Amino acid sequence: MKDRIKIVQAELNRRGISVGTVDGIIGTKTKTALNSIDGVSTGWPNSRKVIAFIQIMCRDKGIEVGKVDGYWGPQTEFAFDQLKHVIQFGELPSPWRDNENPEKRNPNNWPAESELDQFYGKVGENQVRLQLPYPHRLAWDKRKVIHSFYCHEKVRDSLCRVLTQVLDHYGMDEIKRLRLDLWGGCLNVRKKRGGSSYSTHSWGIALDYDSANNKLKWGRDRASFSSSEYDKWWEFWEAEGWVSLGRTKNYDWMHVQAVIV
Ligand SMILES: [Zn+2]
Repeated sequence: MKDRIKIVQAELNRRGISVGTVDGIIGTKTKTALNSIDGVSTGWPNSRKVIAFIQIMCRDKGIEVGKVDGYWGPQTEFAFDQLKHVIQFGELPSPWRDNENPEKRNPNNWPAESELDQFYGKVGENQVRLQLPYPHRLAWDKRKVIHSFYCHEKVRDSLCRVLTQVLDHYGMDEIKRLRLDLWGGCLNVRKKRGGSSYSTHSWGIALDYDSANNKLKWGRDRASFSSSEYDKWWEFWEAEGWVSLGRTKNYDWMHVQAVIV
């Protein structure tokens, strides 16, 4: 909530409706300022006024936000993310959904979830060792460095290409800073967390990275991998047809899989 209020206060100041210090706290000045805004109802609670003003800011910057109603729905959440990007970088994030070319985006013909047995065989089988282009650290024990892990034979070459590009683009220092080496596992024969079917990890065709900062139920507002610093990281995966659940479903940002959704 505090970061929302700060953005609102900064914008009110910018619009010449002085609220004083940008401190993330709704004081008298901020309240008065919000009440003077067209479209913000004075009868609303403060939190709803703040959200409504964020919606107005989005609308004014041409970001699709829907109705200015002061409610924090998925559209407002997504619009807010775009708004923050505009504030920070002066432009909208590059629309990664627009350059989807179905042929290009699945060059390895990864199967759908219903075709996994047919394409990959039985869970836990056909595993090979991948020699890593750059060393990984175990996410659950960062002192342990690994240079290889097991994955399905059909994904190994693609994985190697992705990680080689990551290394070439970011370099080892950036990889560590962005925690692109914090490996949370690949092959693991188990049921989905919160589900009854096998996890894609059971075939060794999914990977998790930096699980502590990209928890299963976190969305764009919390998951570190949703920030624009990771755009290239995801582009390398997506160019090989790998699917990020974060980018497509906005949960499980740690996870990337060779299965289309
Ligand atoms: Zn996973």
